[in-house]
Formats: sequence, structure tokens, C-alpha cells
Amino acid sequence: MSIISAPESGDNSSNHEALRSDHRLYGLAINNNLAMNNDLSPALTEPSWLTPCFGVQLSKACAQAFSTMKTSAASDGIDLMPCSGYRSFERQLTIWNNKARGLRPLLDANEQPLNYCDLTDDELVDTILLWSALPGASRHHWGCDVDVYDAATLDVKQLQLVQSEYNAGGPCAKLSEWLAQHAHEFGFFLPFQQGLSGVSPEPWHISYAPESTLLLRQFSSHALYQVLSQHDICLKAAILPKLEHIVAHYVRKIAPIPASLRLNNGPNG
Ligand SMILES: [Zn+2]
Repeated sequence: MSIISAPESGDNSSNHEALRSDHRLYGLAINNNLAMNNDLSPALTEPSWLTPCFGVQLSKACAQAFSTMKTSAASDGIDLMPCSGYRSFERQLTIWNNKARGLRPLLDANEQPLNYCDLTDDELVDTILLWSALPGASRHHWGCDVDVYDAATLDVKQLQLVQSEYNAGGPCAKLSEWLAQHAHEFGFFLPFQQGLSGVSPEPWHISYAPESTLLLRQFSSHALYQVLSQHDICLKAAILPKLEHIVAHYVRKIAPIPASLRLNNGPNG
């Protein structure tokens, strides 16, 4: 079974059929190291749904929309660049385990550093989830979510992906305003916003709604449970008992999709 094989929320069967027939979903499952249908042809084991896009990997539809948006942003003096696109299960697992072992800084909801040794396992899980997704549950696995910055104002090596960079006066403030006004014209929206998402606000994270809306509907917490059970993930004993809550709060709870991007059906569509 794949992580996206079992729709759980209000849905539309024709959309699911369209997705099942898209070998990108199989690529998604394979690239996330998940068990999958036995009848997969070897040709479908290639992640051919991904394409290079300004230094990252994105789905073809997302890359095309991104390139069009980049051209439009450039005419307004913004050098829209991606700094993170598709991310594998293994990469997310490394990020998670490093944070869980105290090898990467831990920040609270106000971006203030926390002392690793002061936290119980439950608190550690909740803290990591403020800023990092569970492996298998990251929107970056989907290839249609992108972290962006303005390369006209700062070098990627200086970029920290913190709110102050995107707030008024920050190097990416103009980009942030531009995205709020124009991203929807190209199919993108910002899923992580103050008070609207379980994940902390990420003004750098944009999502290509025509694909991510359907993928979120296909997401299965049951499949995620199985995947995590089979992998060597730190804090597993603290994660699995509350996985349903984690998925509801950190995966499904996102900012509303702009009206112009909504599909004709479903609660998020
Ligand atoms: Zn992101």
C-alpha cells in the first residue's frame, strides 16, 4: 500500500481515479520508501514526475507554474528562487532524527532556542513538529511545495528561513507582499500561516494547489502509521500513540486555499 492510497476525508471518486492513474503517485510512494502495489511496472519506479527547476526538483506541472510566476515576479524587481523543493523520505528522516537527538537547534513557537535536555519525549515531539514534518508527512515529499526567497536581496548562504527575513524591513519583505498579492494567479498559496495552520507560519513555503489539494485528500494516516512502524525513527514510542492527532493538527490543518484555486468539490476544494 502507498501512503496516498487510502483517502480519508470528503472526496470525489473521479479525482481519486485521476490520481491513481498518475504514475507520479507511484513515484511518490517509491521515493518515500513505502510499500506499494505489487502490479507496478518497473518503468514506474523512476521518479519521472520530477524535473529540475532552478536547482531543486519539482513536479512538472509545479515547475512550469513556478517558472511562469518567476518571470512575472522578475518584472516587479524580485528574483524569485526556490531553496527547497522535493525532499525524500530519507532526507526528512535524517532531519527528524538529528533534531530528536539534539544534533540540530530546537526552537519554540517564537523561534527562541530551547534546551534539549529540559524536554520530555512528548515535548520534544511537539517542539520538532512546530518546524519540521514527520518523515512521510512532509508536503515537500509531494514535489509541489517550494520554499522560496528573493535572490536579488540576499545570497542563499545567508538565508536562515526565519520570519524576520520576510517581515517588513527584512530582505524578503517585498517578495512576501508580492506572493500575498499574486501567488494565487499562478496556482500557488501559502499553507502555513499564523493562527490558521498547525505548523508555525512559514512565509517562505508556497504550495501548488492544483496538485497539493488532491494529494492531501489522498493522504492516509493509517499508511503513515505503517511506514513509521517499519523505519528507524527516533521518538517512535511517543509518536505512534498520537499519530491521528499529529496528522489532524500538523498535516491537515492548513490555511484556506484562495477561492480562485478551489476545486469544485470536497471540504478543501
Ligand atoms: Zn517548506
